[in-house]
Amino acid sequence: MIKIGLLTCGNATQDLNCASIGCLKAFNNRGAYFKDYPEDEPIELTGIISCAGCPTLNAPAKILKRVKSLAGYKIDVLHFSFCLKHGCPFKNKYEKIIKEAFPELKIVHGSHADTDESVERFKQNMAELLAPTICIPQDMNDHIKQRVKLR
Ligand code: SF4
Repeated sequence: MIKIGLLTCGNATQDLNCASIGCLKAFNNRGAYFKDYPEDEPIELTGIISCAGCPTLNAPAKILKRVKSLAGYKIDVLHFSFCLKHGCPFKNKYEKIIKEAFPELKIVHGSHADTDESVERFKQNMAELLAPTICIPQDMNDHIKQRVKLR
């Protein structure tokens, strides 16, 4: 039995409501970055957790806090999700920190399939979703300035 953990991007899961559907589908189908596990070896997705948000000066402590909650269940492999692989400027730093803390843990960069087209579309869409320009959400400044629009 190979035990697998999945580390996702906090921006995608917490801010943008990604429920890891694409990653789970790839795992369930043994597709994309899960296809190289031996066919006769059972695999288990032991747990999923997002990063703790962009790192600040506390990067090692923040990311290890999250990974520990998977490593504590004796996972063999940690997959970096598609969104972490293609959207996170800190992924290599994270890999180094995690490898130092958990030298036995194998790290795989990727989860569901990533074609050039899907990566480009992801980058464009993330830019708009994280900092909207088309449909700008209201916030507390609209409250303070008493201009919140209600239905
Ligand atoms: S960009 Fe990187 S550090 Fe920031 S929330 Fe996503 S995975 Fe975490």
